[in-house]
Amino acid sequence: MGSLSTEAGCQAIREAWNCTSLEKAESFLTTQGSSAPLELENFVSNKFNPSTQHLDAINPKTGKVFARVPVSSAQEVDEAVKNATDAFKSWSKTTVAVRSKYLQKIAQLIQENHELFAVWESLDQGKTLARARVEVDRAISNFNYFSTFILHQETAARMIDGVALTYEHRSPAGVFALISPWNMPLYLLTWKIAPCLAFGCTAVAKPSEVTSMSAFLLCEVFRQSGLPSGVMNVVFGDGPTTGSALVRSPLVKGVSFTGGTATGIQIRKDTADQIYKHLSLELGGKNPTLVFDDVDLTKAVETAAMAAFENQGEICLCGSRIYVQSSIYDRFVSTFTSYVQDNYKRGGRMGAVVSLPHYRKIRSYLELAASEEAQFVIGEIPAADPQDGLWIDPVILTGVSTSSRVMREEIFGPVVTIAKFETEEEAVELANDNPNGLAAVLLTKDGARIRRVGEQIEAGLVWVNCWLVRELGTPFGGMKNSGTGREGGEYSRDVFTVVRTLHIPM
Ligand code: NDP
Repeated sequence: MGSLSTEAGCQAIREAWNCTSLEKAESFLTTQGSSAPLELENFVSNKFNPSTQHLDAINPKTGKVFARVPVSSAQEVDEAVKNATDAFKSWSKTTVAVRSKYLQKIAQLIQENHELFAVWESLDQGKTLARARVEVDRAISNFNYFSTFILHQETAARMIDGVALTYEHRSPAGVFALISPWNMPLYLLTWKIAPCLAFGCTAVAKPSEVTSMSAFLLCEVFRQSGLPSGVMNVVFGDGPTTGSALVRSPLVKGVSFTGGTATGIQIRKDTADQIYKHLSLELGGKNPTLVFDDVDLTKAVETAAMAAFENQGEICLCGSRIYVQSSIYDRFVSTFTSYVQDNYKRGGRMGAVVSLPHYRKIRSYLELAASEEAQFVIGEIPAADPQDGLWIDPVILTGVSTSSRVMREEIFGPVVTIAKFETEEEAVELANDNPNGLAAVLLTKDGARIRRVGEQIEAGLVWVNCWLVRELGTPFGGMKNSGTGREGGEYSRDVFTVVRTLHIPM
């Protein structure tokens, strides 16, 4: 769509909106240099508001600063929550037909600016442009899906024979805090915003301080969509200052959070005495991929590699622990290694990792692996002080002990371990031998085994001979330390609404 009128948005929105291709964005950033990066502003009651405190956002592929992100104070958060509370009074009473139209308009505006979103998402997060484009498509699907879901809802009615009719009636729960991580910024934030608005709630969103850019562009989409003032507000900032103030606010009636398990625990503690608050916590994973000896090796390798290295391994659903049946172990390791070397190259299918602290975290796990004498089949410990961007090539490790932190903790980078198993029972035991339980990949052609093994895996999502296939009505979420609550279709309705039962005597 390209440039905006001079009255539109704010200065940074007008500048960013001109960058409709990677070349234009790169040229803009080169001309601006690091002395005058984009200055992001909060979005409250359909207005952009400058902040006084900022932090730097970097382009992971170059390591250069490209934007200044507000660190919103508790006062700024309170102001946004107050506006969302005022807006809730009328938004919660709009018909689903009206809300559906707004969601469709938002989807349309993102579609019209598809490349703009993809370009900035790639620059901000480090992901490849191709991957960013897929995630923009998925963000559009989030709005389209919930825009129609709300038009076709059913409710339960029960008879108490000869006595009464009962039926369930739902209403929007109130103002929500929507808090998202940095790995799939636009996709994950819209996965919360779309159902929240669709079910009649208003929101204050806080994206990760590390990747705020696509949420900032989204604010302009909300403004252009004509959404009533205060329905959707975005405050930028870090977790301890901005995020914490938001989740603790007594006016916030629910929190939909995606992020790390430690933060999920903190949010639960911070809201423990606000028992009314709905909490949906989508947390970390350390997901197994099980490869049985009946597989088509070529297809199994492709699926396992994609599950391990897509988005540099920075997807909560990535399969970072591969277990292979011993009879095909050697063949799998060599075919997998060649495939990864041929297909997961820097700047091709591999982007840069998101931030210097995260780069250092991944590096520390690789140092630990080396100190424990794991074998680096490919890959190495990256430089301590990267000079030209935050690049880590794929690492395949073997010989890692089941008790090692490398095997047990989420690394969230392009690092995968491969180990052997003999029997189905052992495969299930190894898969479940972890405090997390988000997702798993099961690779086998045996139909009976699919159910036998699949139904024993302690994970909210089990992909059989595939990975990352999503239908937006299916319950999304994890078991064990990977979270509580499910989102998607009617499960999102449970998050964002309260239910009452009416009893009508005969
Ligand atoms: P974090 O838990 O560090 O942060 C997630 C969000 O929470 C950020 O916006 C963060 O702000 C904010 N936050 C941090 N502290 C608080 C607090 N005390 N109160 C309120 N908000 C707070 O996760 P990451 O951003 O590092 O993301 C990676 C993690 O997310 C991984 O563990 C990954 O598995 C998980 N994840 C889970 C998914 C799922 O669906 N289950 C999907 C995608 C990722 P800020 O960063 O600005 O400080």
